[in-house]
Amino acid sequence: MNSIPRLSRREFLTASGLLTLAAGAQGCKTLTGASHSSIIDIHQHVNYSGRPDDVLLQHQRLMGITKTILLSAGRSVSSASTHDGASNGLEAKCLGNEACYQFASIHPGEFFFGANEVPDLPEATREIEKNLKLGAVVIGEQKFGVECDSPEMQRIYQLAADHRVPILMHWQYKRYNYGFERFYRMLAKYPQTIFIGHAQTWWANIDKDYKDDEKNLYPKGTVTPGGVTDRYLSDYPNMYGDLSAGSGLNALKRDEGHARDFLQRHQDKLIYGSDCNDLLGTIPGCQGADTIATLRRLAPTRKIERKLLYENARKVFKI
Ligand SMILES: [Zn+2]
Ligand SMILES: [Zn+2]
Repeated sequence: MNSIPRLSRREFLTASGLLTLAAGAQGCKTLTGASHSSIIDIHQHVNYSGRPDDVLLQHQRLMGITKTILLSAGRSVSSASTHDGASNGLEAKCLGNEACYQFASIHPGEFFFGANEVPDLPEATREIEKNLKLGAVVIGEQKFGVECDSPEMQRIYQLAADHRVPILMHWQYKRYNYGFERFYRMLAKYPQTIFIGHAQTWWANIDKDYKDDEKNLYPKGTVTPGGVTDRYLSDYPNMYGDLSAGSGLNALKRDEGHARDFLQRHQDKLIYGSDCNDLLGTIPGCQGADTIATLRRLAPTRKIERKLLYENARKVFKI
């Protein structure tokens, strides 16, 4: 797009009397107000790698996203859990609760926000709860150097259950949320908490033959089903997967035969997110747009595609 100078699509269509026709062509609205092409993006950030707000807005609209969830950073502190400050701003200049709340407030119904905090601060649950009461739809993105079963994290898991919101976790070996192989204990201990897995160690472990290795976070080639991630999704009703980021896209593309089966197997558990920091919003150059195209190509049926791009997010985040 676009061969029509100066006029927006809507202005052009109105001027040419085709608006009604075009609205019909976009598909009938369902009872929830969503059209058959609506997409929810559960994973974006404000000021991601310094990206300006107007570019973020345009990026999301160009990708065809109808609702976006903005995940917050915790406050900036220097501690072991932030790797002496290196992991502040989710290690990508992302802003925190206040900025996400403000952005969502300016774009009601189109943008939603997360509640977050550095988990081992004494005021962590208070700060998260304050933002949940303001309307945050998720806790996260939890991306800190802590044990996944530490008392601090367990307090936040309980808070998520109490407020009936999911918690989204960035799993990265030796860097964020230590102890992925032990996490089944938390899944069993907090059955009312909905956990959403994301990032390199989450996606690398779809493969039964993968061995955790901080130098091999984006493994390529054939996938043997039955890895830790595959089992968590199969065995625990409260475990979901976020398809975002280069790690999610790599997991789909490295073995497309496996990916089709994986999408079929976990069709009610996998949720689209972009988590890209580019300024484009279109292919080539936008990983989030590439992930949408890849899911449309690999989803075994149209019904499953709609679950991955829209329905599962609507249910889990209640948006
Ligand atoms: Zn992440
Ligand atoms: Zn992008």
